Amino acid sequence: MTIASSTSPTSPRDPSGEILDILRGILPEGNGPYALHEPELTSVERNLICQVLDEGFVSYAGRQVGLFEKALAAACGTKRAVAVVSGTAAIEVTFRALGIGDGDEVLCPALTFVATANAITHAGATPHFVDSNENDFGIDPDRLEAYLERIAEIKPNGTFNRVSGRRMAAILPVHIFGHVGQLTALRELAERWNLTLVEDAAEAFGSRDRDGLLFRSGPAATLSFNGNKIVTTGGGGAILTDDEELADRLCHLTTTAKVRHPWHFNHDAIGFNYRMPNLNAALGLAQVQRLPDMLARKRALAVRYRAAFANALNWTFSDEPDGDESNFWLNAVRLKTDDAEDLDRVLADLHEAGYSCRPCWTPMHLLEIYAAAPRDELPVSERLAKQLLCLPSSPHLMGPPSDV
Ligand SMILES: *Cc1c(COP(=O)(O)O)cnc(C)c1O
Repeated sequence: MTIASSTSPTSPRDPSGEILDILRGILPEGNGPYALHEPELTSVERNLICQVLDEGFVSYAGRQVGLFEKALAAACGTKRAVAVVSGTAAIEVTFRALGIGDGDEVLCPALTFVATANAITHAGATPHFVDSNENDFGIDPDRLEAYLERIAEIKPNGTFNRVSGRRMAAILPVHIFGHVGQLTALRELAERWNLTLVEDAAEAFGSRDRDGLLFRSGPAATLSFNGNKIVTTGGGGAILTDDEELADRLCHLTTTAKVRHPWHFNHDAIGFNYRMPNLNAALGLAQVQRLPDMLARKRALAVRYRAAFANALNWTFSDEPDGDESNFWLNAVRLKTDDAEDLDRVLADLHEAGYSCRPCWTPMHLLEIYAAAPRDELPVSERLAKQLLCLPSSPHLMGPPSDV
């Protein structure tokens, strides 16, 4: 005797059972546990690091830093790249170099990794949180425009927040999970409101957008090479720019602002020790060479997830924006309800089964450290935080590298 309703072990309306069934179909449980994102290190990385050890230049004076920067600029289509110790440092020093900091406000999404807001704070400025849109999860330009019309005032010496009295100096959009934000609209908005546009592109290395603005929408964009990013240097970051003078200033500021001389110590600014060491750059050089191969396998994984979630009852796959090419750094799905307890229960079940899935971040204004920061209403950020779930996304899940 067969019972028709017993073919599936879980009720189709159970979000946990449904996502587990889908994941088991793509990532067999016996091969787990599955990390969220793991670095892929091969003989290419090993050989380049050994070369540095043989040559003896492990600090930033070595030649691999320059080679890595050239490779980054070529991969991102900018004139220059400046390699530094972290993505956080990249943002901080960019604002310092652009004269943005003490007493200023910088607009950024509430829905981001805490480093975005921390970097603004380290630069001496105040993060001012704005809401995201449902499509690419980045800043919503229409909502931001309406908000600025309510609170901002353009004066000859800058745009000012009428409530706090502070200058609103810049806008720092984030390309969430590698999906490129609405850069055309944000650039027009930045021009209208006299704001400097800097992209926090930490998650978007390898992405492309239809308008060719990615990394080039303003004077600078920043990357991160932390261990869980698509390209890693162990820890590191970079600033991308078409402005040669800004790039030179960033190199100078990140190496204690020392004036070049064979033996004298003269420093013409209070600089930073933020330059990327050569050992890390060698690792990055290898990773950038292998980026196309990693991107291809990450896209193959996204295609699998997209198909598997196409008919899901409880989940929607967070796809790349129309016309753009995402790097699919993290594949994410959205729960169709917005009950934070639901999402938490699902996450517990997934972890139990060996799938290290994650929610998206706690929105910044809900962290005690940023509770007092200025902000717009943030309903979309709050809802997305209860719905987004990131899936295992390492390139090796779709097989070994084909280029090694
Ligand atoms: C990873 C990340 C950063 C910071 O990079 P670190 O290299 O860890 O300092 C900044 N912003 C976003 C959105 C990130 O994902």
